[in-house]
Amino acid sequence: MTDNDQLPGATHLECTGTGEIIESEQLIGLSAAGKPLFARYDLDAIRDGFGMKDVAHRRADLWRYAEVLPVRDPKARLSLGEGWTPMIDAPRTAARLGVRKVWVKDEGQNPTGSFKARGLCLAVSRALELGAEELALPSAGNAGSAAAAYGAAAGLPVHVVVPTDTPAPILEEMKALGADVQLIEGLISDCGKVVRKGVEEKGWFDLSTLKEPYRVEGKKTMGYELAEQLGGRLPDAIVYPTGGGTGLIGMWKAFDEMERLGWIGSDRPKMFTVQAAGCAPMVRAWEAGKEDAGVWEGASTYASGLRVPGAVGDFLILRAIRASGGGAVAVQDHQMADWVAKLGVDTGIFAAPEGGATAAAVPMLMELGLISPDDEVVLFNTGSGLKYVGMTPID
Ligand SMILES: *Cc1c(COP(=O)(O)O)cnc(C)c1O
Repeated sequence: MTDNDQLPGATHLECTGTGEIIESEQLIGLSAAGKPLFARYDLDAIRDGFGMKDVAHRRADLWRYAEVLPVRDPKARLSLGEGWTPMIDAPRTAARLGVRKVWVKDEGQNPTGSFKARGLCLAVSRALELGAEELALPSAGNAGSAAAAYGAAAGLPVHVVVPTDTPAPILEEMKALGADVQLIEGLISDCGKVVRKGVEEKGWFDLSTLKEPYRVEGKKTMGYELAEQLGGRLPDAIVYPTGGGTGLIGMWKAFDEMERLGWIGSDRPKMFTVQAAGCAPMVRAWEAGKEDAGVWEGASTYASGLRVPGAVGDFLILRAIRASGGGAVAVQDHQMADWVAKLGVDTGIFAAPEGGATAAAVPMLMELGLISPDDEVVLFNTGSGLKYVGMTPID
C-alpha cells in the first residue's frame, strides 16, 4: 500500500441494534432503528499485506491503518498529524498507585490537543469523499475544535454549537480555525437540538458522535496502536474517561477486527469507564446491571469532555465493559485536579482533567478488586491540560 492507492474501503454498514445491513457509499447518520452504524470490511481479503510487520514502517499517523478505514479516495484522506501518539512509561505513577506497570497514552499530542482529532479526521474525510457541503455538530469543546480544523483542511464550512461555559482557549481555537461558533445557555444535549434544526432547515451534515458511522472508525485506531506499541500484546487494563464512549467502543471493535486479522488472540483487556461524580450515567447503569443508561439530570463537572448526560452508544459501552470483566467508577472534580498535578510531577505530561480522572480511578478500582497490583495498566490522557487553563473544579 502506498499513500496514493485507492482502497476498497468498507463493504457495508451494519446496525449495532438490529444487525440490518446498509449500503456504505452514501452520506448517512443513524440506522432506521435509531442506533449507531458500524463499518464492516472484508478482513479476510485485507489480511494479506496488512500484518503488524507490514504496517511497522508506515507513516506515523492513523492512516497507517488505511485498509481498515472507510476512505477509498486518497485525495480525501485529510491529514494534520493525527494519531500514533506516544505511550509514555510512568514508573513513578505506577509506584504511587501500587501497580506493576502504568503507561500513559498521551492523546493530548494530537492536532487541536485532544483525541477528538482522530474521530473528526475520519468523519470529515469521509463526508468530503461522499459530497457533504456543510458540516455541523454540538460539542462540549474539543470535538468542535477538531471539526473546525478538519473542516478547514477540507475547505468545508463547519457550524459548532457549544455551551456558554466552554473553556475560553477552545472557543478562541474554533474561531481561529474558521468555524461558525454558536453559544447556547445549556448542555451539549441542548446544543444538539440547534444542530438538528440546521440539519432539517439548511441541509447541514451532522457530525455528532456515533450519529454518523466514522468518528468511531478514527478512534478505533487507538486499539491498533496499543497492540503495535506494546509489541503485539494488549495491556491487562485500560482506563478510559467516558463521555459519549466513542473511543472505548472503537477500541473494542478494533480488538475484534485485530483478532480476525491474526494480530492478537482472544484475550481482551479489562475495559474501565471513568466518569465525573456530577455526570455519571454509565456508572449508575453499570452498578444497577442495566443495559441502557438513560439521561443524567443536572450534569456538572469541569471536565467538559465528560459532561455528556446521555449517550446514543450507551448499550455498546455497557456491553464492552461487562464482556471484558471491567467496570465503571465516578470521581469528583477535585480528585481529577489532584491527579493532574501528580501526573505532571511524575511524568512530565500536563494532562486534561479527563486524564487526571483515569489515574484517580485506579485506587477505587483496586479497592473494588477489579485492578490487581500485578496488572499492566494503560491510562488514557485524552487531552492537553492547556485547553482547560482557567477552569476550576466544581465538586
Ligand atoms: C470528548 C472527550 C472525552 C470523552 O470521549 P468519548 O470517546 O466521547 O467518551 C474525554 N476526554 C476529553 C479530553 C474529551 O475531549
